[in-house]
Amino acid sequence: MGQTTDIGRRIELVPLDPHFGDVSIGLYRQQYDGEPAYRVHTYSHRAGAGDRIASVVRAMAVLGGMERDSADRLRFPCGHVHNLAVKRVFLEACKLEPSATAEPRPLEILDKKSGLQIKVLSEGDGVYRVTAHGEGKDRERRISFIAGGLMKLAEIDEVSGTLDQVVFPCAHVHDAMIGQLLVRAPNVRAVLREQEAAASRGVLAAPSQQDG
Ligand SMILES: [Zn+2]
Repeated sequence: MGQTTDIGRRIELVPLDPHFGDVSIGLYRQQYDGEPAYRVHTYSHRAGAGDRIASVVRAMAVLGGMERDSADRLRFPCGHVHNLAVKRVFLEACKLEPSATAEPRPLEILDKKSGLQIKVLSEGDGVYRVTAHGEGKDRERRISFIAGGLMKLAEIDEVSGTLDQVVFPCAHVHDAMIGQLLVRAPNVRAVLREQEAAASRGVLAAPSQQDG
């Protein structure tokens, strides 16, 4: 990898990468061509570090539905900042085995708590609707809980007057990202606890720094 003089501001860190000799890997945000772009970087000089970073970048592109340029910069096709969502995508990408091929997650999960099959439908213009299918309990409550989980995980807005719909502030479709977040939405409390624990270790940027 070439020498990077300005890689931007670090917004997330995996302090010990379990798949590559416990090196630390950071996610950085910068402006490129007038738009927010993201970079994955390690200061490690170990042989193979470049390949490891490239594997995380490839996985993020798939899991987050992001575009990757020839310099391995990542951006969302909508050109907007999705800081919280991109951090989640980064953390999930780092968990993947480097040899595994990342695949976009379906917009459908089995909600173990209720036994319901949860499907998220894209309604266009960045609006997504959570629906439940099959036999299960607490249908309405689980739908609104999971919609709330998506909002908390990715700073998505509620569609006012509904309990089952959310909308991306950029008004663009983000299917891959919704699929990725949906996996965690039923356990949103555990995920947020994990984030808080990380933040208290000084790993995460303070919320006040999440502009955009
Ligand atoms: Zn967007």
